[in-house]
Amino acid sequence: MSDSVETYPEIREAVAKLCARFPGSYWRALDRDMAYPGAFVDALTEAGWLSVLIPEDYGGAGLPLSAAAAVLEEMQRAGCNGGACHAQMYTMGTLLRHGSDEQKRRYLPEIAAGRLRLQAFGVTEPGSGTDTAALKTTARREGDHFIVNGQKIWTSRAEHSDLMLLLARTTPMAEGMKRTAGLSVLLVDMRAARGNGLTIRPIRTMMNHATTEVFFDNLRVPAENLIGEEGRGFRYILSGMNAERILIAAECVGDAKWFLDKAVGYARERVVFGRPIGQNQGVQFPLAKAYANMRAAELMVREAIRLYESGANPGAEANMAKMLAADAAFEAANACIQTHGGFGFAEEYDIERKFRETRLYQVAPISTNLILSYLAEHVLGLPRSY
Ligand SMILES: Cc1cc2nc3c(=O)[nH]c(=O)nc-3n(C[C@H](O)[C@H](O)[C@H](O)COP(=O)(O)OP(=O)(O)OC[C@H]3O[C@@H](n4cnc5c(N)ncnc54)[C@H](O)[C@@H]3O)c2cc1C
Repeated sequence: MSDSVETYPEIREAVAKLCARFPGSYWRALDRDMAYPGAFVDALTEAGWLSVLIPEDYGGAGLPLSAAAAVLEEMQRAGCNGGACHAQMYTMGTLLRHGSDEQKRRYLPEIAAGRLRLQAFGVTEPGSGTDTAALKTTARREGDHFIVNGQKIWTSRAEHSDLMLLLARTTPMAEGMKRTAGLSVLLVDMRAARGNGLTIRPIRTMMNHATTEVFFDNLRVPAENLIGEEGRGFRYILSGMNAERILIAAECVGDAKWFLDKAVGYARERVVFGRPIGQNQGVQFPLAKAYANMRAAELMVREAIRLYESGANPGAEANMAKMLAADAAFEAANACIQTHGGFGFAEEYDIERKFRETRLYQVAPISTNLILSYLAEHVLGLPRSY
């Protein structure tokens, strides 16, 4: 390998084989009912694909980020939707890096074995949006517990997760205090919490994503569930962002490949005016352009992974990978619909469903504008805009 990033052909083949058991008809049925792909997530868990990043000592495969990226890219390339379960890969990293030995021993083997799901990540709030430091949810220490009050929004998979990684304010903001100080990460056991101070309400969205809003009303969380040190939670969440961006970018590359395969196959076969539509440059060029952009994004994902795995902190590359890959996926999605003409809109072709699913990644987990602001400020040295 010239760039020293492992591509894991054997993992890709195995994931593709598993995904073949979950064809478009499976996803279409779930999409209609906005139902969770439980059988798909169970199959991935049983095969060990969701725990590739968990160290072997805790029952996982102990593989590097490139392996997780290969798993997620392949899932999307096969037409499946990793949005149902991808979070466990990166939320687990916060516990792994900052949790105590006792917490890791208690939770990681259970997560690796599939007996516990850590799929929910409660950061975003309706009042603060991208401005995470302005969040209002509080966790007040009272003896052996934190008492949590507030609200989160877009807490995806909360109804299908046992545990939630929650970011809350443990020290009230005071004058002169750094905005990002005083926030802490708690591991909330939602099995015990539901109906006892935790309420989860699903939000219907344009794609099937099992996202919710979550309300905390004097929820008691044992103090032993604090991850790392009190007040350093913002830093802990930030430390997982590169991995999150890179993994989502890998998914987007997988999406782009799925759309391109579909579009090219159709362009070769569909005959109009006595010739395949793919013989027309007007049909070829958008696909060729989308392909070039997908390849460029793929290279940036690999570069971000290479730096990440060498121990660097590739904030710029991880952000660029996420933005370029999300753009490439959406460009390929658009070209794919156009290539299919009217059939692109028919449910049975899966294109409109994947089109809706991949659109999300221009907004979540971080919107394109915020990535551009990051690059402008931290790479180009321009004044901070907000
Ligand atoms: C389906 C779905 C699933 C999600 N899952 C999760 C989850 O599991 N956990 C979680 O914590 N969050 C989750 N999110 C939240 C997601 O991370 C946020 O929606 C996203 O970060 C954008 O925040 P916001 O919606 O509050 O937009 P806002 O912050 O309100 O921004 C609105 C628009 O304004 C732009 N904007 C804001 N500030 C600036 C600025 N300074 N300069 C330029 N443009 C700006 C943004 O780019 C955006 O386009 C999810 C969201 C969705 C839709």
